[in-house]
Amino acid sequence: MKVYKAHIVFTKERQRFEVLENGYVAVDNGRVCAVAADLQSLGCPDAEVTDFGNRLLIPAMNDVHVHAAQYHNQGIAMDLELLPWLDNYTFPEESKFSDVDYAERIYRRFIHHLWRVGTMRATVFATIHTAGTRRLMELFGEAGMGALVGKVAMDRNSPATLSEPVGKAIEGMQQLAEAFADPDGLVRPIVTPRFIPTCTPDMLRACGEIARRYHLPVQSHLSENLSEVALVRELEPESRGYGDAYNRYGLFGQTPTVMAHCVWSDASERALMRQNGVMVAHCPTSNLNVSSGMAPVRTFLDEGIAVGLGSDISGGHDLSIFRMMVYAIQVSKMHYQRSDHAMAFLSLAEAFWMATKVGGSFFGKVGSFEQGYDFDALVIDDHDLYPDDYSILQRLERFIYLGDDRQIVHRFCRGREVVLPDQWRA
Ligand SMILES: [Zn+2]
Repeated sequence: MKVYKAHIVFTKERQRFEVLENGYVAVDNGRVCAVAADLQSLGCPDAEVTDFGNRLLIPAMNDVHVHAAQYHNQGIAMDLELLPWLDNYTFPEESKFSDVDYAERIYRRFIHHLWRVGTMRATVFATIHTAGTRRLMELFGEAGMGALVGKVAMDRNSPATLSEPVGKAIEGMQQLAEAFADPDGLVRPIVTPRFIPTCTPDMLRACGEIARRYHLPVQSHLSENLSEVALVRELEPESRGYGDAYNRYGLFGQTPTVMAHCVWSDASERALMRQNGVMVAHCPTSNLNVSSGMAPVRTFLDEGIAVGLGSDISGGHDLSIFRMMVYAIQVSKMHYQRSDHAMAFLSLAEAFWMATKVGGSFFGKVGSFEQGYDFDALVIDDHDLYPDDYSILQRLERFIYLGDDRQIVHRFCRGREVVLPDQWRA
């Protein structure tokens, strides 16, 4: 049993922060067993207390959509829309991951950067390459951080270096499913058809079957860009839409599913998402950079669709989920303005809740300090950011808007402090 004392902030529900000034959280076996305003109410008066003093203690960040193999392209190549962007920048970079040494070098840097910005869980695209993907999973394991990692399935509209026959793709996925079979493991595989344009019906069907057979979650992209939506309509003429096409192949909520973007999902697609419990990975910077549009997050929330936040490196340029909260709020204010105030913009509590408790729910009981949740946490020392008269919530807001990794002084994943060596950046 461990007890930590600090100014504790988390969100149990969408519109409200829980704030325990000088509060306590008790952690046993990696999980939160109690949180309370004073030691007496915590129910473990004899426990040794680690006192973080005047610092903030918040749940760690969850990134529900990111491409580890695009990390080398982060912050460059912003001059094209999605489909030509993939052909000209992304596919050539991902092709390099046939070389496991190259993969290892980039993946270490990527994980170190995730760690720096306080993201302890991520839903990750690797590449088609099984050996490199396995290495990425092993590195997350070495780091002690949580990840759902996808070997990417592609067998059409892709360069030869990034295409794999269905049989070989499935064999690779099976190997990873068997190597990382523990359902409670921090690192697990996720079935990852890149998106419908790059996967034949046979590949999509096989992906759905393997997800069902091994009880694996699914991730992909959905209705990101108008040219892409038009292309899917041509490729899948029998489907009622993009989401319906995934659904026909068993890739739309038959097992836990997260779909990135959903900028152009219409009412019937959204109804299917809600009915099937498909989570949206909202990636505001990516949508802006690749000129896709603005995802209607308020509509998703009003309709009862779960929305987590994703950095989507390298369509997105910023790996920080704190910064993603800010962008999500700013994009929602554009919707607010354009809808004559009909679509209320996101509150800070809502954005924080999406980044922690909603995104975390894709990994299990993650993203809150309620009893039974994994203790995934960050300690924030913001003394260089706040004047003395700020409240705890004002301090948190300033950190979210202005802070960076310099203020994150401790990081925990499932109760263990995670410390990575500087060499991982090399
Ligand atoms: Zn993506």
